Amino acid sequence: MSQAKNTENYREHLGNVNEQGGRIWLFPKIIKGRLYKIRTYISWFYLAFFFAGPFIKIKGNPFLLLNVFERQFIIFGQPFWPQDFHFLVLLLITSIVFIVLFTVIYGRVFCGWVCPQTIFLEMVFRKIENWIEGNSNQQRKLKEMPWNREKIIKRGLKFIAFYGISFLIANTFLAYMIGWENLWAKITGPIAENYPTLIGLIIFSTVFYIVFAKVRELVCIMICPYGRLQGVMLDPNSMVVAYDEVRGEPRGKIRKNEAQDHKGDCVDCGLCVDVCPTGIDIRNGTQLECVNCTACIDACDSVMDKINKPRGLVRIDSINNIKNKTGFRFTPRIIAYSVFMVLLLGLFTTLLVTRTDIEAHVLRAPGKVYFEESPTLISNIYNIEMVNKTFDDKKFRMVVNYPNAQMVMVDTTGVLPANQEQKRVFLIKMERKFITSNKTIIPIDFYIGDEKIKSMETTFLAPVATN
Ligand code: SF4
Ligand code: SF4
Repeated sequence: MSQAKNTENYREHLGNVNEQGGRIWLFPKIIKGRLYKIRTYISWFYLAFFFAGPFIKIKGNPFLLLNVFERQFIIFGQPFWPQDFHFLVLLLITSIVFIVLFTVIYGRVFCGWVCPQTIFLEMVFRKIENWIEGNSNQQRKLKEMPWNREKIIKRGLKFIAFYGISFLIANTFLAYMIGWENLWAKITGPIAENYPTLIGLIIFSTVFYIVFAKVRELVCIMICPYGRLQGVMLDPNSMVVAYDEVRGEPRGKIRKNEAQDHKGDCVDCGLCVDVCPTGIDIRNGTQLECVNCTACIDACDSVMDKINKPRGLVRIDSINNIKNKTGFRFTPRIIAYSVFMVLLLGLFTTLLVTRTDIEAHVLRAPGKVYFEESPTLISNIYNIEMVNKTFDDKKFRMVVNYPNAQMVMVDTTGVLPANQEQKRVFLIKMERKFITSNKTIIPIDFYIGDEKIKSMETTFLAPVATN
């Protein structure tokens, strides 16, 4: 057991909470190491994609539109209807299994490298804070100083920048929901007509501001359910940001004229703690607060470079490998999750490939079972419900595949408008002399242009022929 584990009661309190239960405001240092640079490049791509997303079109259609107000969804330029809800459910389940699988193998790397909360906080808001208020020591001093001219200017600038970006994020989210053209029309339209949009934007901007300026790491530690769940997903074989205590302990500062050979490689400089955005000491072991941002790896590598020791005292590794040199192992849990994941992906792909752009369902109209139009002619009334999930109007027609049955459309336009759901009424008529059963199965073929899209069946009810 490491020195730290004997002395620290780190599992009993959070790194950013003091003895009285109050919050310790964190001022993490920024270390621009190798991993930080990679994260920066990834975040540029991510941010460019996020802000450009509402403007990206595929064949004139939005790349992504999640209009929950009008139940209109477009994903990768393809319209999805509430009838496609099972795709969303399957996509959610697949994403959850993927994240779980990812966590079992790679720990919480999603949090540090992909999650929008961390990307925005560390790569946007934290950087702006450093530009305006200076490094972590200068920020600490600014916090402690009374409200003088310098503090008012710096805090004022920070508020304007933070709120401005929060407003931009809120606008982008709304553009994903209603489309940027719609949003622009609302922004430039008369305020008396569009004030609900403005109020909504202000509310969401304020929420984002509070999250990124005030709540910060508490989202990852206390609010996010994924963070709370990671304890049950990780095992000693998971790859996590870990301190190599075998190599690092016993830790100790380098002192002049003191023999170092009894010490491990950790010089107890505390830099890995200073850079941690959740305020923990990774040398205590894997902790709930760790979002795997890898800042402590960069920090420790920079120290190792200075003291001419190999990098990687803090690294991404499994606890088993650090302690027992076991290497990476495919555990039964990883295999089970992987198989489940492949099955889900297979099901999702099959459903996606076989998904039709046009849906049609024939239903008997409620009410009277049949009409005796004349002593020799019987008719039944039906509804056809159709959904056109494409962005083009479609000409449709139906063909009754039953001898002597005749179809009559009540509404004769055979055009199904783009991206719309429609219901039409039609009749099937048959002369009494051809009816041999009181319940005849009638096949109906549904065509778009000349292409048969679907074969359906319905029932034709009638009194049994007596001749
Ligand atoms: S312990 Fe390291 S990886 Fe974990 S949150 Fe802190 S700095 Fe990031
Ligand atoms: S940065 Fe490295 S050397 Fe310094 S305290 Fe952390 S683990 Fe030890």
